[in-house]
Amino acid sequence: SRLVSGLTKTRDNIVSGMDSIFHGFSHIDDDFYEELEETLIMGDLGVHTTIEIIEELKEKVKEQHIKEPIECRELLIDSIKKQMDVGETAYEFENRQSVVFVIGVNGVGKTTTIGKLAGKFHAQGKKVILGAADTFRAAAGEQLKEWANRAQVEMIGGQEGSDPAAVVYDAVAAAKARKADILLCDTAGRLHNKKNLMEELKKINRVIDREYPDAYRETLVVLDATTGQNALAQAKEFNEVTDITGVVLTKMDGTAKGGIAVAIQSELGIPVKYIGVGESIDDLQKFNADEFVNALFY
Ligand code: GDP
Repeated sequence: SRLVSGLTKTRDNIVSGMDSIFHGFSHIDDDFYEELEETLIMGDLGVHTTIEIIEELKEKVKEQHIKEPIECRELLIDSIKKQMDVGETAYEFENRQSVVFVIGVNGVGKTTTIGKLAGKFHAQGKKVILGAADTFRAAAGEQLKEWANRAQVEMIGGQEGSDPAAVVYDAVAAAKARKADILLCDTAGRLHNKKNLMEELKKINRVIDREYPDAYRETLVVLDATTGQNALAQAKEFNEVTDITGVVLTKMDGTAKGGIAVAIQSELGIPVKYIGVGESIDDLQKFNADEFVNALFY
């Protein structure tokens, strides 16, 4: 499948290394654990998550009197799945009248992701409206407009530098007038100015509170998987600024750093809802942690 082929490099990075440890060691000792730990950290699972996984493995090995290194493989897979458990991932906005805010720093693939989501929902027969509320970036609106055309959905924008909350106000008016199912709003991602960003997002949320109180709301943060630990750090920072309900991990095609999906769910407890697996409109997939781990290991 696409998921499996897209994960080839991540698989090489994490699983091949682990398997050579399982086969290379004749018995379980400190060196064995240390090498496993290093492989998981190098695989971008995050230091914190890795330590918990190794601790759990050590306990199980003791409890179950395990002697063979290869027997640790299944235990480790279970442990990674457990770390990723964030409960059931809801996609409520797909089925309700919703406003979805999309945030993310420059270059992560935010515009592309909004275009892909718009295309996906439009193809499902839903009425989609885009709100170009990232008025800070030059050409952000024009770029989004191209995606709106590609996805065959309407876009509401504003002048560069105009008030994002005003754009959201207009977009909400359009969404209500056209009985839209989903209003997808591009928002700024200025992590270097967290206070301003926080104020801006609050102001936008107040517009929704007032103008569209019954709409279901989500905030998705878009992260570039190829940046590994940096993506995790960004997720943490955005989570301090606003309530994140889901993550979209882009550029999962061809990166060796796909292990970051584990770290995000484990350390933040926020579900990765979609992954980007290419540059075209169809290259967005729903993410499922178990499927992901199975695709890596089996
Ligand atoms: P933005 O600045 O965050 O809005 O980023 P863009 O949407 O303009 O995307 C930046 C670059 O990343 C573009 O060249 C996109 O084609 C590319 N891109 C976005 N998502 C993906 C993905 O899932 N896979 C790949 N390979 N490239 C992507």
